[in-house]
Amino acid sequence: MTHSWLVLAIVVPILNALMLNAWLVVIVTTCLCLPMVNASAPFPDIAFSTFSQSIQDQFGTEITLATVLTLLLSLTNNTDMLNLHSRQKHPSGEGEIKQTVSGWMKAFIWHLQSHLGAEIDTLFQPSDNLPVLSRDARITRIGHKIDTIAETLQLTPYTTNGQFRGWLGNIPDLTPVRLLCPITAECRTCKWAIHQVVRERDVPAVNLCEGAKVHHNVALLTGSCTKCQVQ
Ligand SMILES: [Zn+2]
Repeated sequence: MTHSWLVLAIVVPILNALMLNAWLVVIVTTCLCLPMVNASAPFPDIAFSTFSQSIQDQFGTEITLATVLTLLLSLTNNTDMLNLHSRQKHPSGEGEIKQTVSGWMKAFIWHLQSHLGAEIDTLFQPSDNLPVLSRDARITRIGHKIDTIAETLQLTPYTTNGQFRGWLGNIPDLTPVRLLCPITAECRTCKWAIHQVVRERDVPAVNLCEGAKVHHNVALLTGSCTKCQVQ
């Protein structure tokens, strides 16, 4: 990190002198400040009931499944931010101050807010007294809640006793089961429902190209009208 800041001290003035676009400065700054992380890490291994209880403890009863899943995936896709945030919760150097809601977490919430729009209000409970909170107080309140959720998901490089156990790595996205099925649910001739008639061992597994992405092990299912005997 020290080396990164040294490089920054040299690079940023040069970029400014050349009057390059401010975004380039931002990108260089971001890249140089990234912590060293492991290549990959498993998805949080906790019981759904534990996660569900934590969501109910922290957020309002009107929170939707879409908001919860957006929050969950936003956390698992931002382990670099969580490393930086957690580090500020665990000061180790002389003069460092513990930050329970760090600037990293606040930046995460700014972006989450613009992503969720008005849905962000469903993160508050009646006891939070949302109408009387200032904008900064709202961000801080949400920050405490999301920090608790991240701790529940064990998305922190520290143990519950505050011992460092290793930086979080990138967490691969979960892979959904994919099926390729007929696009019509009724027989075009007799209007009967189309049935799945292939035996389990005869279902082919194929690779599906979607843009530049390849999905492996996609089940290719064929249907049949049992009245007309048309596939
Ligand atoms: Zn038919």
